[in-house]
Amino acid sequence: MRDTIFALATAPGRAAVAVVRLSGPDSDRALTAIAGALPPPRHAVLRTLRTPTSGERLDQALTIWFPSPRSFTGEDQVELHLHGGRAVVGAVLRALADLGLRPADAGEFTRRAFENGKLDLLEAEGVADLIDAETDAQRRQALDQLSGALRGREARWRGLLIDALGLLEAGIDFPDEDVPGGVVDQAVGVLRELHGELTFAVADARGERVREGFRVAILGRPNAGKSSLLNALAGREAAIVTPLAGTTRDIIEVALDLEGYRVTLADTAGLRDAVDVVEAEGVRRGRAWAADAALRLFVVDGSDSGNDGWEREAAVLEAGDVLVVNKVDQGDVARIEQCKAYAAEHGLEAVTASAALKAVVDVEAVLSRRVVESLAANEAPTVTRLRHREALSGAVSQLERAVVPGRSAELVAEDVRLVSRALERLSGRINADQVLDKVFSSFCIGK
Ligand code: GDP
Repeated sequence: MRDTIFALATAPGRAAVAVVRLSGPDSDRALTAIAGALPPPRHAVLRTLRTPTSGERLDQALTIWFPSPRSFTGEDQVELHLHGGRAVVGAVLRALADLGLRPADAGEFTRRAFENGKLDLLEAEGVADLIDAETDAQRRQALDQLSGALRGREARWRGLLIDALGLLEAGIDFPDEDVPGGVVDQAVGVLRELHGELTFAVADARGERVREGFRVAILGRPNAGKSSLLNALAGREAAIVTPLAGTTRDIIEVALDLEGYRVTLADTAGLRDAVDVVEAEGVRRGRAWAADAALRLFVVDGSDSGNDGWEREAAVLEAGDVLVVNKVDQGDVARIEQCKAYAAEHGLEAVTASAALKAVVDVEAVLSRRVVESLAANEAPTVTRLRHREALSGAVSQLERAVVPGRSAELVAEDVRLVSRALERLSGRINADQVLDKVFSSFCIGK
């Protein structure tokens, strides 16, 4: 029989209310031991909680009894809504431990819900993401995932696999029948369609960018004003600003909420031939971070003293990146025009700023616009974390084998079964324990 677990479900610390949850076959015994007779199922009932041994009063609390299977975990469950003081919570948790119940591991409630078929793995991850959500877009995406928004898409993909398998089995059972175009060709046609949809889903980085943050790298020559720009955008002094070149040696990340999206801005070491090994390592890390970023802001010193040969370093930019012509308060008209011409020629967007004077509205506007353009969409993305990308990529590579011309119906049918297994990893139907351990251990305790 499974043991009965308990945990504080609300954040630790002093609060108006603290919720303690229990799950497992001994939940009813524990509730009766500390709160008297069982209340009617799913009704909040006020009770005096007492230590079972001495009968000492612990708290006045709302108690709720959720008999199996109509509970979050699918097991017998109890919720105790306590007064949220540390001593109250501590005393109640001790009383539960004295009754032989076990403190829950991280994610154990959700894992039990998954194992009892209450949630699939995508929905369980949705629960974790919803708890971690800090911006509106993260909340919306997690809710979509939690409420099974992807189930329709998965069902469609499974439907395509079943169609293909049906055709192939007809080819295996009735090899002499004259089917126009040949059944294998027809099945391969269906599989190509699926391949197209899965490839599109894998290539779509929006889900991870919403969940993990839209990464924007600030690049440029030393002293161009990168740290000043980061501070102005962040609204605080996150990075050190000095007139000395080479001050920023590591990556300084700042999280912003722009239009409801999480944006991670990074100030990187100035791009130049570094004077020592620490700076050289900083430059290397900065370049690597920038290469993976969704967008790069390249800061150019637009003042008359700023002719620092920035074009050579700006070669790292990709079309669509942004050139920020900074220090326009001391701007040199010819330089600003030169920057704009460079931007137009290289497919970059150019904006001006005075980072030290916190005049960065144009940069904010372009950032907001680009984040919304890149991430907003009617259709929820399929991939929101690496695990999903791996499962779908596995299915895509199996499909690539399946659609190679000239293979027999039997071989293609076998590939289709492998594709189907790869897809099942997405919702967790056939995952190994290690995968589940990894997913659930990233949850908090009490979840
Ligand atoms: P980084 O090395 O690119 O990070 O540049 P910093 O942000 O440390 O700035 C280098 C120097 O330029 C500092 O002395 C800043 O005060 C100055 N600076 C930065 N932005 C501006 C600006 O918009 N106008 C003026 N006049 N000076 C600026």
